Amino acid sequence: MSNQNKTELLTTADFLKLSCANEWSLAEPFSFDVTASDIVIKVTVLDTGIIIFEPDCKTTQDIVLSSAVHGNETAPIEICNDLITQLIKGKIALKQRVLFLFGNPASINIGKRFVEENLNRLFSGAHSELSPDGSTLINKERARAKTLEDAVRDFYQQGEKISAQRDRCHYDLHTAIRGSKNDKFAVYPFQHGKPRKKEQLLFLKQCGITTILLSHSPTTTFSYFSVNEFEADAFTIELGKVKPFGENNMEDFTAIKATLLNLISGNDLSLGEYIAEDFEIFEIYQTINREAEDFRLNFADDVENFTSFSIDSILVFDGDKEVKTKKEGEAIIFPNADVSIGQRALLTVTPTHIE
Ligand code: ZN
Repeated sequence: MSNQNKTELLTTADFLKLSCANEWSLAEPFSFDVTASDIVIKVTVLDTGIIIFEPDCKTTQDIVLSSAVHGNETAPIEICNDLITQLIKGKIALKQRVLFLFGNPASINIGKRFVEENLNRLFSGAHSELSPDGSTLINKERARAKTLEDAVRDFYQQGEKISAQRDRCHYDLHTAIRGSKNDKFAVYPFQHGKPRKKEQLLFLKQCGITTILLSHSPTTTFSYFSVNEFEADAFTIELGKVKPFGENNMEDFTAIKATLLNLISGNDLSLGEYIAEDFEIFEIYQTINREAEDFRLNFADDVENFTSFSIDSILVFDGDKEVKTKKEGEAIIFPNADVSIGQRALLTVTPTHIE
């Protein structure tokens, strides 16, 4: 089987196709070499949706680029698959180690956010929490979350063997369910008191992202996992509104595609100076979980992310409870009434700045 998969990948250079044809696992891992501008690149396919590229030159960075943690968020999948295809064809002179992950190929196939459970709530061990009957890894997404965690861990640990001082980054690429007043934005996970890095914000600016959302608590997202366990510079990056394959205007993504290509190629990123006015920075203020069966949002479906409400506005009816804004300038983000009880239905954010 693996020879067949390898032959197919070498012929098509389409890792997305191979991953979607093998929804939850590949029969066997396999590897091969490609050469680009005299650099020999070892390509290792560890499992479905999990592919590593390692150049034989001296590397200083271990880069993780993930997409399809939500299967219907197609633009990031197309961006990553395009880079993977070019790498397999030997068209990119890679200078750093890079791990690409397609999070949830089965959900890509059905064009849905997830199959049974939101994968981006299952990291940092949440996948192995006991269900009421005492069983673990109760669905395929939970098993997949563990597989993805293991892939990231092994990738970073392999890097450590190459040299002690390495930069680790992980950009987890998404698109949002609804439109946003700020088209592209990034969630900067909780840092446990460590300073936020302006250099990373400048990198995001180069990608066309100047709206940043600071998270102030641990979560079960993929990006926080990489921050917390590996001290990676990791972000959840939202690249606009979710659209089906073929309907994305790829010109919207020129900046991020070019910047990611420069990153993995070791090119000078020319990040420039940090100017506070270039950024809109928010911090999470309220996390609103759904608690009752009878739950609804008190605003229309087309209200965009980062829309602000006046103080004391009712945002949510949750059973008998009303949840209101408490602060001037408080804006909504990621509203989704269609979540299970106990899950996050909405965040609110307020403007802030970084030191
Ligand atoms: Zn997403």
